[in-house]
Amino acid sequence: MSQQGYVATPPYSQSQPGIGLSPPHYGHYGDPSHAGSPPGMMKPAGPLGAAAPGGMSPQVPSPPGPHQFGQNGAHPQGHPPQRFPGPPPVNSAAPSYAPYSPSTQSSYPSPASTASVTQLASQLNAMHINSYGSGMALPGQGLPGPPAPLFQGLPRPPQPSIMQPGSQVLPPPPTALNGPGVSPLPSSTHRQDGLPGPAPLNAQYQPPPIPGQTLGTGYSPQQAASYGPQMAGGQLSYPGGFPGGPAQMAGPPQLQKKLDPDSIPSPIQVIENDRATRGGQVYATNSRGQVPPLVTTDCVIQDQGNASPRYIRCTTYCFPCTSDMAKQAQIPLAAVIKPFATIPSNETPLYLVNHGENGPVRCNRCKAYMCPFMQFIEGGRRYQCGFCNCVNDVPPFYFQHLDHIGRRLDHYEKPELSLGSYEYVATLDYCRKNKPPNPPAFIFMIDVSYSNIKNGLVKLICEELKTVLEKLPKEEQEETSAIRVGFITYNKVLHFFNVKSNLAQPQMMVVTDVGEVFVPLLDGFLVNYQESQSVIHNLLDQIPEMFADSNENETVFAPVIQAGMEALKAADCPGKLFIFHSSLPTAEAPGKLKNRDDKKLINTDKEKVLFQPQTNVYDSLAKDCVAHGCCVTLFLFPSQYVDVASLGLVPQLTGGTLYKYNNFQMHMDSQQFLNDLRNDIEKKIGFDAIMRIRTSTGFRATDFFGGIFMNNTTDVEMAAIDCDKAVTVEFKHDDKLAEDSGALIQCAVLYTTIGGQRRLRIHNLSLNCSSQLADLYKSCETDALINFFAKSAFKAVLHQPLKVIREILVNQTAHMLACYRKNCASPSAASQLILPDSMKVLPVYMNCLLKNCVLLSRPEISTDERAYQRQLVMTMGVADSQLFFYPQLLPIHTLDVKSTALPTAIRCSESRLSEEGIFLLANGLNMFLWLGVSSPPELIQGIFNVPSFAHINTDMTTLPEVGNPYSQTLRMIMSIIQQKRPYSMKLTIVKQREQPEMVFRQFLVEDKGLYGGSSYVDFLCCVHKEICQLLN
Ligand SMILES: [Zn+2]
Repeated sequence: MSQQGYVATPPYSQSQPGIGLSPPHYGHYGDPSHAGSPPGMMKPAGPLGAAAPGGMSPQVPSPPGPHQFGQNGAHPQGHPPQRFPGPPPVNSAAPSYAPYSPSTQSSYPSPASTASVTQLASQLNAMHINSYGSGMALPGQGLPGPPAPLFQGLPRPPQPSIMQPGSQVLPPPPTALNGPGVSPLPSSTHRQDGLPGPAPLNAQYQPPPIPGQTLGTGYSPQQAASYGPQMAGGQLSYPGGFPGGPAQMAGPPQLQKKLDPDSIPSPIQVIENDRATRGGQVYATNSRGQVPPLVTTDCVIQDQGNASPRYIRCTTYCFPCTSDMAKQAQIPLAAVIKPFATIPSNETPLYLVNHGENGPVRCNRCKAYMCPFMQFIEGGRRYQCGFCNCVNDVPPFYFQHLDHIGRRLDHYEKPELSLGSYEYVATLDYCRKNKPPNPPAFIFMIDVSYSNIKNGLVKLICEELKTVLEKLPKEEQEETSAIRVGFITYNKVLHFFNVKSNLAQPQMMVVTDVGEVFVPLLDGFLVNYQESQSVIHNLLDQIPEMFADSNENETVFAPVIQAGMEALKAADCPGKLFIFHSSLPTAEAPGKLKNRDDKKLINTDKEKVLFQPQTNVYDSLAKDCVAHGCCVTLFLFPSQYVDVASLGLVPQLTGGTLYKYNNFQMHMDSQQFLNDLRNDIEKKIGFDAIMRIRTSTGFRATDFFGGIFMNNTTDVEMAAIDCDKAVTVEFKHDDKLAEDSGALIQCAVLYTTIGGQRRLRIHNLSLNCSSQLADLYKSCETDALINFFAKSAFKAVLHQPLKVIREILVNQTAHMLACYRKNCASPSAASQLILPDSMKVLPVYMNCLLKNCVLLSRPEISTDERAYQRQLVMTMGVADSQLFFYPQLLPIHTLDVKSTALPTAIRCSESRLSEEGIFLLANGLNMFLWLGVSSPPELIQGIFNVPSFAHINTDMTTLPEVGNPYSQTLRMIMSIIQQKRPYSMKLTIVKQREQPEMVFRQFLVEDKGLYGGSSYVDFLCCVHKEICQLLN
């Protein structure tokens, strides 16, 4: 039996009984054909597949590597997906998945009925915990003082947060030193004492004080005694996440009230501390297993042999040596990979390596590409592969002598020997049909049904296209863009346009047979914009007029995608469809949808149906699109239910983007839409891509999340991938990992550039391995963990009841923390809550995830919005998911207009707001400017150019340009926040105590949710309780 690893993913997909025995559960989008053989896939399997490039049959999915993934051969391609997995079989090959099975539904919160809980509990029972001495000082009390010198670039030291009952909340000490209770971790030699900042790192937490009891600052066993049983009582499950009601208190109400929110770990503090210690510095990627600065910290990254964290971030930079350890800790081992991430101008862009006809140098056995992990031997004539250990001959053209330390003399001249990331020019072997690809095409497809014409949307789009087409992306060295463009309009039928440059007028061809779409013209449909500019402008001027008298309300949708895909296919090029659509496609055609929004399904086992596409037409369409390198980006303008779960499927699976503008109003929303459109067209993007993850022996990639499509277990196919899209990859053990060789990851993306060149983009990353759990915890990154948990949970909502998913998340959080407590923290009272430094904010972020509308079963939130957010998160990188789940909240009234730095954020809680204040909140999709009723008049004047609060018109989505420092600074801050984000955030002005405040308050994620979802404090109590149960 192979190792099935621990519990993170399979929970949701029981059809993954033991890796190596059956394929991962890819058929979950509703089309069982996914797991079957791919019809007519034309991608060259060779380069990224295991076999040598060239000579691949296009019909055959690339076979698994013969050695590196020894068990791949056992994956039957035709394994039927289990769309609605039931409980795992009793004799399942994956016993550790038990806690994730639906059968635990009723068991939570009783630990005894949950297999893994029982398992861990029994492990914990075996240990002696109550050795806490009363003479010990409180954690966090020790050694406040001026910050000690900082060790630049070192991994952050472990600094567990200790939350201890029975103690008064102490004023936050200025430093976080290893007070008692902080584990003397075995390898904490690089302790980085004295992080600056006013609030504690070792937060003092006062869980439920006992009523009537005098609380001292010291811990007393009596308090623990009376406290313990309450904690262990465990009647309570995750507060707020249950069907039917808003947040409940986690425990006896009086216990909750006395918690001081200042005493529990603050995300702001963690972010600020990291900024203070690592911000503005150069982060060199020269050592294995280094934990990078947080995503919220600005620094300059220098590639010195490992991929920049802009490209890859991991949940932990130290993997456990054995799968047993992994199971014990239950920390997901995952990488969030953004292969086309934007690199700031002060960092070095990727080098392009060109070996001419020889092509890239690769290991004969595992096909890994030449990289810094290859060891040259025998005077440079051979090299040993770091991934599979195979010894290869160095090809003659690549030979070079070694220096006295065994390094090639050209080490620093060859990017592939010394850098973590670089590109190769691919040879013809890597191209479809062994011929160079054609440059991609963009096809613009506009819904010209009655309402879109009437509200001016069609005119707006056509006007804008004239401008944005000037900015089609091009290769840096080229004068003009190689991308060709085409135009289609549609309602119930499709209109193709001939815009050939020699025409005086564009010509329209109507396709009425939407059942079987064909492309009525080849010549003149896809054209060079510069050459056909006048015909195209002519067309864009005419379109709004052309349909001005149309009263056609019905639309088709699937045939539109089909038409675009067929057109690209006919032109033999990859490309992107930009579809501008507004309504539920009810016209008679494939992919016709009916309104099936049913709130009655909420909180039932059938709720998952709301997230699944209504018909499998979209699923097979997505598959065809990926096979032909056709990426679909959808701009949706719904005024009512449009079934985002169905319409958004193709964009999601083809690496496209879904933009949604509810109740689009020209004067309010056009700016947001136009910004999105411009940004999307100009984005850096690769087409017709296949990604392959290779790993060193002992572990391998087992599950993938993102805008991807998989026809087998290893090749991640993407019609396109742009700079904002990330793929999250989960790893599991095959075998033991060795501490000395570490864990190596190589991500290779074969793709076509916007100029039509076939390339390989390689990212390498080396991680540490350890047999000490403490090392594993020390190297975790909570932001990446949340990204992983969000994606695996959001994938699971297609199959599992939400209640089960929420319980899994709570359980796993408690397990991870309980394992740390048991194995890494120094002995202390059972009732203490101890958080590892790297996971200090895991509970608050986890609670934000649990409260997200996708996981919260509430009828108040529209089904489309939930489906939209689900799809959005699936492709997010770490920085975007961090902001999305924990919004940035900035005080504006204290703004220093002379400074260009952003003000320090505050925690997302109503208690942090003040009547006299003005606050800006952003989460990547929305921005709110909240105005307290007593906001300073000079600020109101400065920002809005009106004399008082009452005069402010909230009916605006952009701030007026008032010529004074307040206005300028605030607008500058807003543009900085917007800058690096993939979606244009719509600004809403919110006045305190007015109706729109309700919407704003949903983003105050530390508070109890309006529609349910517990407060941070309540959730922390709940997790603490779970941990206590596990420890008992
Ligand atoms: Zn190899």
